[in-house]
Amino acid sequence: MKIDGSCHCGKITLTAEVDPATAMTCHCVDCQILAGGPCRTGIPSAAENVTVEGEPNEYIKMAESGRKRVQGFCGVCGTSLYAADENKTRFIIRMGFLNQREQLTPTKHIYQDSSASWLKCIEQQQWFARMP
Ligand SMILES: [Zn+2]
Ligand SMILES: [Zn+2]
Repeated sequence: MKIDGSCHCGKITLTAEVDPATAMTCHCVDCQILAGGPCRTGIPSAAENVTVEGEPNEYIKMAESGRKRVQGFCGVCGTSLYAADENKTRFIIRMGFLNQREQLTPTKHIYQDSSASWLKCIEQQQWFARMP
């Protein structure tokens, strides 16, 4: 399916073609730190199917495997856009800024070992439709 989205300030837009069945969530500590939250969601796409307009900032982090991972984000508003291998042949697109995020349900969760213990019981917690 086709996906698209803009960062919060609108400086950067991204469009891509993805397989919705491949959406996943990562609970590793790096994702928690970079997200400022319990996890990050992502969906893969090959570079030839990804178009980025605008100039994202990129931060290189070392993966546990020792490989360099490019982290693309908007330098103005900080929205996380993608991760990629060093040569940017394969992207993992962050799902939070995508217009189709509600149609993309992660079916796979990795790094359960570091996942936030409260995540599994969020349905029992207090929920409000908007800011109470
Ligand atoms: Zn932005
Ligand atoms: Zn991760």
